[in-house]
Amino acid sequence: MENKLDTKKLSEELLINRQNGCHQIDDETFEKVYEYCEGYKAFMDSSKTEREAVNTAIALAEKKGYVPYDAEKKYAAGDKIYLNNRGKSAIFAVIGQKGCKEGVRMVAGHIDSPRLDLKPYPLFEADEMALLKTHYYGGIKKYQWLAMPLAMHGVVVRKDGTKVEICLGEKEGEPQFCITDILPHLGKEQAQKPLGQAVEGESLNILVGSRPLGEPGEKDAIKLHVMKLLNDMYGITEEDFVSADIEFVPVYKATDIGFDRSVIGAYGHDDRVCSYAALSALLDVEGVPEKTSLAILADREEIGSMGNTGLDSEFLRYFIADLAQAEGLEPRHVLSRSRCLSADVSVAYDPNFPSVYEARNSCYLNGGVGLSKYVGSGGKSGTNEATAEFMAEIRNLFDRNHVLWQAGELGKIDAGGGGTVAMFIASLNVDVVDIGVPVLSMHAPFEMVSKLDVYMTYKACGAFYKEG
Ligand code: MN
Ligand code: MN
Repeated sequence: MENKLDTKKLSEELLINRQNGCHQIDDETFEKVYEYCEGYKAFMDSSKTEREAVNTAIALAEKKGYVPYDAEKKYAAGDKIYLNNRGKSAIFAVIGQKGCKEGVRMVAGHIDSPRLDLKPYPLFEADEMALLKTHYYGGIKKYQWLAMPLAMHGVVVRKDGTKVEICLGEKEGEPQFCITDILPHLGKEQAQKPLGQAVEGESLNILVGSRPLGEPGEKDAIKLHVMKLLNDMYGITEEDFVSADIEFVPVYKATDIGFDRSVIGAYGHDDRVCSYAALSALLDVEGVPEKTSLAILADREEIGSMGNTGLDSEFLRYFIADLAQAEGLEPRHVLSRSRCLSADVSVAYDPNFPSVYEARNSCYLNGGVGLSKYVGSGGKSGTNEATAEFMAEIRNLFDRNHVLWQAGELGKIDAGGGGTVAMFIASLNVDVVDIGVPVLSMHAPFEMVSKLDVYMTYKACGAFYKEG
């Protein structure tokens, strides 16, 4: 009896058959994938900081009829609103046919990325150079930020409250900036150090000038020259750095990678890629969704979500509470019926470094959107874990909507780990699961994602808004 079984059929029925997603979509879909990613690349080039991402996102949303949220106003089904939180994070929302009665549907990404911020007193002169002192933001491998061109982005707010926006080093012909490294000839001692100690945080000083003003022997003449140029360009003085958010970021533009152009290299895929997927899916929702739908672009995820523009603050809860109360609903009831995709990048298996992955439970390039039941480290610590019930709903939703997906963990057990915003939203009594685009070289100045995975994450968000 047993040996007469059709094992081929049986294995098709019972076993998972993980395939490269490229074999699972047709040419027409491939064209959509590549076309969608052109929009994404444009978004990336105009969104190198959280502030720029908020501005770009609002401009895209306003084109689709979104208007600033007004807590005094009553909203009706189909109304499109956005909340701009201090210019650094934002919530976009469409009021659903049923409003918030059955909870809201939200996709939460983050728009901050690892980078080098300026210290309050950054400018100094030493050994015939003017330099800026930085304080790195987020988890960086410090050695990766040396000997590569950087651009200066951000805002300086003068004492009288007037604000100047800075973006220098991105356009052709503009000056760029750079941190020096030791030449290999003299790098013997550096090469002996563990990688994490080879470059110290206090040595991440950016070269910004070398030409003195005035007469020979005058003190700090190079520094003065730099400050004069900054004053000419932006009308600022040295003390104005105290009230500034200045970020130095890689100058790289989003670029196709590979002969087949199947991969995109860019600075800050983590997590502008999922933020863009969430936003563009919301903007592309057809008609009025059943439930009120939110795209959340959060700040400060890379440092633990603390601070009033991060999701470990109350701004999301207040916004949902306002929407609930406007409909005469109890906010906590709305929250407990709400669902969320925590849309943050996952890690793609890298054949150059197989030792940190567990191959069976990894996401792969072109496998589709990554679905992570949990992330965290040290025995599932520091993370939300989606329930089996919610996981079942989500995979059913994705399959129904032809979203290619794959399940994966964040690397091998005890290799390291990390968290997302999922746990902060889950603490509001919301069902949350982590999804996202698998990334290669995460947190490096130039990260890589597959176009197919980017598109599938957009499709995943769209399916969630429609039927989640
Ligand atoms: Mn992230
Ligand atoms: Mn990150």
